[in-house]
Amino acid sequence: MSTMLVVEDLSAVGGISLSAALPVLTAMQYEVAALPTSLLSTHTSGYGTPAVVDLADWLPRFFQHWTQAELKIDQALIGYLGSVPLCQLVTQYLAQQPLDLLVVDPVLGDLGKLYQGFDQQYVDAMRDLIKHADVILPNTTEAALLTGMPYQENPDLTAILPALQQQLKPGAHAVITDVQRGKEIGCAWLDDHGTVQFYGQPRLPGHYNGTGDTLAAVIAGLLGQGVDLAAALKRANQWLHLAVAETIAQQRTDERQGIALGQLLRAILSVH
Ligand code: ATP
Ligand code: MG
Repeated sequence: MSTMLVVEDLSAVGGISLSAALPVLTAMQYEVAALPTSLLSTHTSGYGTPAVVDLADWLPRFFQHWTQAELKIDQALIGYLGSVPLCQLVTQYLAQQPLDLLVVDPVLGDLGKLYQGFDQQYVDAMRDLIKHADVILPNTTEAALLTGMPYQENPDLTAILPALQQQLKPGAHAVITDVQRGKEIGCAWLDDHGTVQFYGQPRLPGHYNGTGDTLAAVIAGLLGQGVDLAAALKRANQWLHLAVAETIAQQRTDERQGIALGQLLRAILSVH
C-alpha cells in the first residue's frame, strides 16, 4: 500500500472535496493522509455563508510532526487551498518531499471568474505550486487564469494547452477537465507528440457539486497506481459519468449535496 497525501478543505456538510477524496482513495487501496487546509460548516455552494476556520497556523506544526515521525508520503493530491500563506506553506513542504506523483487541481475559479476572496497574488502563488506538479487539472477558467489568456468557454486547445505546459516542469502534463465537445463533456490534454487529445462522455443534464474534486481524486488514484495518463483520464470520465447518472437517478430533493458515490465506489472496488 502506498500513502497518498490529500490536501484540501474539509466541509462538514455537502460531501465534496476531502469528504469525497477519502472514500475514493481508500477504495483504491491507498493509505490516505488527509490534511484539511480549512474547516467549513458546509461547502460554499447553496448553503449561504459557511463558518470557516483557516488552518494556516496549524499547518507548520503538522508538517514538523510528520518530519519528526519520518512519515513517508508516496503521492500527493492538492485541491482547494484558499489563501496565499496556505499555498506557500504547502509548496514549501512538497518541494522537500521525494514524491513519485504530485497532482494539483489548481482551484482558482469557474465560469470565467476567480472564486470569491482570490486575487492575482493567489494566482501567482498557484503558479509557483504547479511548477512542482506532475499533472495539473485546471478547468477552462483556471487554464485561462494560469496562462493569462482571455477566458473563453470553448478555448483554442491548440493554443492554451501548450501555454499551460510551459508553466510546468519537463515531462509534466496539463489536463483541462471541463471541455465540451458537441454533446460530450470530458478532458483535453497533449500527447507526447504535442497533439491535442480529448476523451469525453455524454453530458447529462444539470450541474452537480463535487464533480471536479471527485474527478481529481480518481485521476490521482489511477496515476498513482501506474495507469498511463490517457487510460486514467478515460476511466475517470467513465466513472464520473456513472456517478452523475446515479445522482440524477436518486431524484434528490436537496441539490446541494455532492454527487452520489455509491456506483463509483462499486466500480472502483470491482477492479481492486
Ligand atoms: P470544478 O468546477 O469543481 O473545479 P471542473 O470545472 O474542473 O470542476 P466539472 O465541470 O465539474 O470540472 O467536470 C469534471 C468532470 O465531471 C467532467 O470531466 C465529467 O467527467 C464530469 N461531469 C461534470 N458534469 C457532468 C455532467 N453534467 N454530465 C456528465 N458528466 C459530468
Ligand atoms: Mg467547473
